[in-house]
Amino acid sequence: MKPYVIIVNPNAGRKKGHRSANELEKELTARKIPYQRFDTQGAGNGEQIAASLKTEEFSQVLVVGGDGTLNEVVRGLSDRREMPIAIFPAGTGNDVARLLGIHNEEVALQAALSGSEKHIDMGLAEGVPFVNIFSFGLDAAIATQANLWKEKLPGWLLYPAALIKTVFDFHPLDITLTIVDAKGNETRKQEKLMLMAVCNGSHYGGGMNINPLSDPQDGLLELCIVRAMPWWKIIALFPTVYKGKHLQFREVSLERVTAVHVSSSKKMLMNRDGETWTDHQAAISLVPGALRMKVL
Ligand SMILES: [Mg+2]
Repeated sequence: MKPYVIIVNPNAGRKKGHRSANELEKELTARKIPYQRFDTQGAGNGEQIAASLKTEEFSQVLVVGGDGTLNEVVRGLSDRREMPIAIFPAGTGNDVARLLGIHNEEVALQAALSGSEKHIDMGLAEGVPFVNIFSFGLDAAIATQANLWKEKLPGWLLYPAALIKTVFDFHPLDITLTIVDAKGNETRKQEKLMLMAVCNGSHYGGGMNINPLSDPQDGLLELCIVRAMPWWKIIALFPTVYKGKHLQFREVSLERVTAVHVSSSKKMLMNRDGETWTDHQAAISLVPGALRMKVL
């Protein structure tokens, strides 16, 4: 039997990654399943570890961490996509694990040991993979603030507190948007918006259901736009996103797309599975069925 490879972010979820990986090692040892464990040393190292793997020597990769660690591993595997990936949710968010029904470590272990493979789509933002969501605007600003406070605040308070801190200083963005819809028709429009998310998955930010229409196997992404609105309305909208009820606001729209191009005269703060950067433009597309995920 080829060994499993375990890639661990030991610091994920306030050191939960480390504890979860130790438990996982015990379970695999008890079952006499061979494995090799690698712990990441700081941001970006998961990608380097995955890139250095000889994938033909392993049967699957077990990712112990959150959405950020999974993203790094997917990037590192690059086009060597024959490798099945199992997620052990140990991050602060675990939104991709949630999407795949991997609600705890027990389910994760069963999925790795005896589950089936689900081929899901992979997004590309500026040519770099994302599994869950690309976004920019207010939510990326909130995510940046939340990252700064990650060690200080309890998880349930993190995003609401970051929202309050961010929303008053936020100016709506003037953008030019080009969309390719499910039938391949291209449209171009101007928008003034608070945020835009191009989604493969359903949830982000540790439980916000930004995309209730998510189907990561349909070869389509969902584009969610929240148009300009006053701060008090944003604060009213925010709690509704957790239940996917934000679509009832007239400023919010959701549509299925295959590609999006966005540009602005101002630099925008962008987010790809939790990683942020700034740029004037971004091109988003998808590769249908590119990822082999272990599920129960
Ligand atoms: Mg889809």
